[in-house]
Amino acid sequence: MTDEPRSETALQSLESNVRSYPISFPAVFSRARGSIMLTADGRKIIDFLSGAGALNYGHNNHQIRAAITEYLASDAVVHGLDLATPAKLEFMETFNAVILRERGLRYRFQFTGPTGANAIEAALKLSRKVTGRQNIISFTNGFHGMSLGASAVTARRNYRAACGVPLSGATFVPYDGFLGPAVDTAEYLSTLLSDDSSGIDAPAAILVETVQGEGGINVARKEWLQSIQAIAKSVGALFIVDDIQMGCGRTGDFFSFEFAGISPDIVVMSKSLSGYGVPLSMLLIKEEHDAWRPGEHTGTFRGNNLALVSATAAINIYWRSCTFAAGVRQMGEAMRSRLDVIASKRGHHFSVRGRGMALGFDCQAAEIAEATARKAFQKGLMIERCGPNNQVIKFLPALTIDLETLNQGLDIFELSLAETLDGSSSDLVGRSSSVGST
Ligand SMILES: *Cc1c(COP(=O)(O)O)cnc(C)c1O
Repeated sequence: MTDEPRSETALQSLESNVRSYPISFPAVFSRARGSIMLTADGRKIIDFLSGAGALNYGHNNHQIRAAITEYLASDAVVHGLDLATPAKLEFMETFNAVILRERGLRYRFQFTGPTGANAIEAALKLSRKVTGRQNIISFTNGFHGMSLGASAVTARRNYRAACGVPLSGATFVPYDGFLGPAVDTAEYLSTLLSDDSSGIDAPAAILVETVQGEGGINVARKEWLQSIQAIAKSVGALFIVDDIQMGCGRTGDFFSFEFAGISPDIVVMSKSLSGYGVPLSMLLIKEEHDAWRPGEHTGTFRGNNLALVSATAAINIYWRSCTFAAGVRQMGEAMRSRLDVIASKRGHHFSVRGRGMALGFDCQAAEIAEATARKAFQKGLMIERCGPNNQVIKFLPALTIDLETLNQGLDIFELSLAETLDGSSSDLVGRSSSVGST
């Protein structure tokens, strides 16, 4: 690998217009370690995006890397379709013992194709097969991936429109808080589903994120999640938690739903599951719902062995004691209190929300979020935006970040926000003072 700077514009003329992150982060990234990425022209970038949640243990985590380099060097099976290998058995046994049994959970493992979207497809197919029903209840601002089935349960209009065919088989209902704090949307859903004249087909599944990542770091309350699980049970639907982005420790527990004391029928996992940024996706399925016949959801890259090896290493390194999770909660609180201070200094327009180390800073106005993130990148911090209008700045640092780097990143954010609000563009200052009145 050379670090010779190459022109981004040359790369841009080769790659499709579909690219997205390079527009927000115009640089060529050549190396990365922990929470720091290096660009080909020698800049150091603090990473608060973490591969959209795929790098909870940081870039090129050397402890995890040791396991996969050893595996590669030993000529063990790397690609084996879904054949049995020691790597797969060890992963399932370790996950079962360290993660599931410790939490009183029992699931079967289904390894799907490597993307989160493929695992979502499998979860939807399975719940339709189990119940003989078609409809999936999904939520406003929900995000579940870009294949057709996953797009059908994804709320955002531009993603849906890009599919070019009618998307069907889903009914969208308001997420917790969508109609304001006074409306209990679980009660609303319960009323809809228990009335045969509500116009809503009986659901095969209710599919939910406990914190909506792409949707704007919207946090569901514990009581709401408990109600949704109870509703699913009472109407004979499967209760599916999409833990692709919020799982693997992001919210301060291994699973994002633990705090609510619920046990989903299906849990969908991907992103940080492999621990190393290599693709790995799976479903955890309650045994009574494992209605698959052999080969009904296949894929060439199911449970890639290299990813299973790094996933096992990540569990062994970080999840055998509860100190890692406690550290995530503590670091999350440190982040949150700093963001709260930054928000309150700036008046009532801004708000902070999230759980654990998944936090959102709601700027209310897309222009403010965009300008702040752009300035931050110029100063050496990668932060992405989310929410229906891209008005929320999303903080997803690696769970392994040290306090000093975290604070450096937050300093850059604070400065970038200040420059956006007070600084150069009178246009933006004008807009910021009218925030909240729209
Ligand atoms: C990223 C994500 C997906 C889709 O995963 P891909 O690997 O991009 O297909 C699905 N659900 C949630 C909550 C996600 O964050």
